[in-house]
Amino acid sequence: LPQIFVAAIPVLEKLEEAGFEAYFVGGSIRDLLLKRHIHDIDIASSAYPEEVKRLFPKTIDTGIKHGTVTVLYNGSSYEITTFRTESGYQDFRRPDHVTFVRSLKEDLKRRDFTINALAMNTKGEIVDLFNGLDDLHHHLIKAVGDPLERFHEDALRMMRAVRFMSQLQFDLEEQTEEAIRQLHYLLPKISVERIRDEFVKMGTGPNSRKAFAVFLDTELSEGAPDFAGKKDLLAIYPSLKFDPILESSLWAVIIILLKIANNEIGQFMRDWKNSNAMTSKVEKIVDLFDLLSERAPTDYELFEAGKETLLNTIDVAQILGQPINSEALVDRYMALPIKSSSELVIDGRFLIAAGVNPGPKLGELLTDIKKKVIAGELENSREAITAFLGNEF
Ligand code: ATP
Ligand code: MG
Repeated sequence: LPQIFVAAIPVLEKLEEAGFEAYFVGGSIRDLLLKRHIHDIDIASSAYPEEVKRLFPKTIDTGIKHGTVTVLYNGSSYEITTFRTESGYQDFRRPDHVTFVRSLKEDLKRRDFTINALAMNTKGEIVDLFNGLDDLHHHLIKAVGDPLERFHEDALRMMRAVRFMSQLQFDLEEQTEEAIRQLHYLLPKISVERIRDEFVKMGTGPNSRKAFAVFLDTELSEGAPDFAGKKDLLAIYPSLKFDPILESSLWAVIIILLKIANNEIGQFMRDWKNSNAMTSKVEKIVDLFDLLSERAPTDYELFEAGKETLLNTIDVAQILGQPINSEALVDRYMALPIKSSSELVIDGRFLIAAGVNPGPKLGELLTDIKKKVIAGELENSREAITAFLGNEF
């Protein structure tokens, strides 16, 4: 058993000694059995939050309303969630109202997919009440219970289904897929942030093209921001050739497929509630992509783009089958006398000390010097730049 579980066993044992049940649950069991990296573990227990708090000296009320208490033990923190059912689903979103129960079965029943409804006790024995082991073995994403009911309760689960398809390289069980096809129109009930997080996980996972095909084919895409009516443009995605890509490259590819104009990228990224940092990364990639599709960039343009944007753009061009001479571009970039402004030996203060008046002209002069250095017309040394200034004034 991986150390991450072993270290937590005393916590579960303490709950058991007090007469409660305690299990490892959810994604960590799935990932353990798939021999995937386990990033965190979830513990479920029949103990109510107050009972958990009484047992452990150091706790944090993480989500006490939903039954989650964080226990600090031996320098680590563990989230313990009381067995619960969810009821009164309104608005097709996860309910705010949960009911604590004493039965593991009830808790596992409310989970989304059979492979996520596995539990494991302190002895390492698996509890499999919904045939999750079989589905894991057959690489199947299958809803627990009636998929129509489950997606009605929480429409995000439809996005989670395609996300897990991509991440785990699994197939979608037939009736689960059919239910998504029927209920795809419920997706807009879910917050954009949550849709986006699942979309990005889908897009950057190893099986993203197959998952994306289902995302389009079931019409789930129609409920995603700015994707309505764009199925034809996006239909190329599943036939593109690429390995998992970075998030910024994913957005750039989508934007290029959708033929979104440069001045509308900001709005698109905002519609998806992306950060400003992500938006500017993506804008730079699309700009350089557009430039490269027309002509070779100048040295200064390569410098301005920077290494990260250049490499991401090369990635995007390769994904989209745009012929570019990536090796030559990288060679040219690597041969630049300076690769970022910070490598320039002088700055504004140096110019002021050399007698240049502060003001807009100073900025222009600095840019001019930078361009000359990049073009190889001026050496990046204080002596050479001082001499150049002497000639100018
Ligand atoms: P990841 O590796 O992305 O963390 P995960 O399966 O652990 O995958 P979480 O979002 O961390 O996903 O959720 C933990 C567990 O809670 C899931 O394995 C599942 O059992 C349950 N769960 C999460 N979201 C839902 C949902 N929307 N509906 C039903 N059960 C859910
Ligand atoms: Mg998790």
